[in-house]
Amino acid sequence: MIEMLRKINLTRAVRTMQELFPEEYNFYPRSWILPEEYQLFSTQISLAKDSDLSQKPTFIIKPDGGSQGDGIYLIRDPGDLRVIAGSHTKQSVVQEYIHKPLLIDKLKFDIRLYVLVKSLEPLEIYIAKEGLSRFCTEPYQEPSQKNLSHVFMHLTNYSLNVQSGNFVHSDSLSSGSKRTFSSVLYRLASKGVDIKKVWSDIISLVIKTIIALVPELKVYYQADIPPGKPGPTCFQILGFDILLMKNLKPVLLEVNANPSMRIEHEQEVSPGVFEYVPSPVDEEVKVGVIRDTLRLMDPAQKKSLTSYPEHQQEEMLGSPVRGTGEEGRVLPSMCLKQVFPKYTKQFSYLRTVERITALFLRFLGVKGNMRLGPTGFRTFIRNCKLSNSHFSMATVDILYIDITRRWASMLPDSREAGMGLQAFVEAFFYLAQRRFKSLPLREQVVSLLEVCEAQLENQGRGDPGGALPEDSTASTRRSVSCGRTQTGRTQHPHHMSTSAPGQALSAPQLCSPATPRRASSQDYRLHQRLRPTHKGNVEN
Ligand code: ADP
Repeated sequence: MIEMLRKINLTRAVRTMQELFPEEYNFYPRSWILPEEYQLFSTQISLAKDSDLSQKPTFIIKPDGGSQGDGIYLIRDPGDLRVIAGSHTKQSVVQEYIHKPLLIDKLKFDIRLYVLVKSLEPLEIYIAKEGLSRFCTEPYQEPSQKNLSHVFMHLTNYSLNVQSGNFVHSDSLSSGSKRTFSSVLYRLASKGVDIKKVWSDIISLVIKTIIALVPELKVYYQADIPPGKPGPTCFQILGFDILLMKNLKPVLLEVNANPSMRIEHEQEVSPGVFEYVPSPVDEEVKVGVIRDTLRLMDPAQKKSLTSYPEHQQEEMLGSPVRGTGEEGRVLPSMCLKQVFPKYTKQFSYLRTVERITALFLRFLGVKGNMRLGPTGFRTFIRNCKLSNSHFSMATVDILYIDITRRWASMLPDSREAGMGLQAFVEAFFYLAQRRFKSLPLREQVVSLLEVCEAQLENQGRGDPGGALPEDSTASTRRSVSCGRTQTGRTQHPHHMSTSAPGQALSAPQLCSPATPRRASSQDYRLHQRLRPTHKGNVEN
């Protein structure tokens, strides 16, 4: 999870979704990966400026894997980047700066929300009903050359603002530099803001972000815990950082895999003497998150709950503690609210990349592997009947080599050879674009998925014409279950039945199999396992 949520990987995962669902994923600011996309960034910005001279956008540069505002700075001109293309400087993300945030008391603030991913398969997501609002300590002004370096005005990080002389520690939940999110919502409601809409937009943002992360997480997960094998029950509490724009639209800033659960803060009790003192606002928010996570994950609780229908389970968790010898003690009602699968219907059509991932996993073969070899890729093409006289297996091999080599060149320290998930998704998009030329990308991709899934289903039923048993032991070991059962073809509101199984893939233009959809090189890090060296829990 730590690896997935590094700024570059999160950006890549969201960008893949933006290509398929631009409207649905417009909650993430336009971003470029540095240094590899420096030229692209520079060119796009100059073109935009040339076409509209009034444009003076600001950009925020964030080092990959950074936290607590470390190394972050603002620029107004690509020439001011401290990371120059091609140099060995740290990898970063450069992002459009949201210059009109919602202000309260003239201060910029962001929202920290805690989200529990209870399980990946099936996907279960809970959101804490209460969160934190973290305020800047210097009144906000729109960015100008003069104020770009004013961190207390532009960055909402607690760790930075607490160092400002203006930081207010308050025992009240609705004042000071850190408040509850509900207190902010009450304040907005009193001004006539439709806070239900704000909440539902935030819930959508969270669900969509997790849907973007799930495909790669599944590859990591399956490498460690192969399907069908009893494995540990894993869960994760994530910290979502969200900014509200002046027009109340929520924007995703980042997701923390290790959100701080500290409920006290350091205070200078006498000159030079620091002590940890309780922080009521942190306690109000975080204790409930931990308590309810334990309630939800507790195997005994889970067992006793499964005999009740799902809609009753949430209520049951708020009722007297059972089976612990503490009968009669009533726990507070749940602060974690289930949002998935509760809202499956609205969001399942977004799980297209997961269906591609199901194919990828099916053909991966070897246990613990995260990259597809050339044989696995050929088997995928053959079993899905994607090759023909216009698209020979030799061409397939060249496509494989071309995409895999390009991805490998961005990963000089790669230990595992082969095609990673993102490269496979790129190949899949390419195949879909070639086969279903005139459709929008998402329909091209869904159509190709239907072709592949139908072929594999036929083979599952023993269609003798279907299977070409190259690497067959590997492919049969996997299943495409996470694709079709969850995505439910009929539920796709934008679905058009465009599959044309007989239609041939024409010969690819081998010079550019990647198509312009990927800007340039990609630092693909699937091979890297979670490293314990990452900074511990941080209060952002
Ligand atoms: P870090 O992990 O170092 O905290 P963030 O991505 O959370 O990095 O950014 C730090 C702070 O910068 C955020 O809390 C927010 O106040 C501000 N910020 C980040 N991205 C943007 C953006 N695109 N527009 C406006 N402000 C931003």
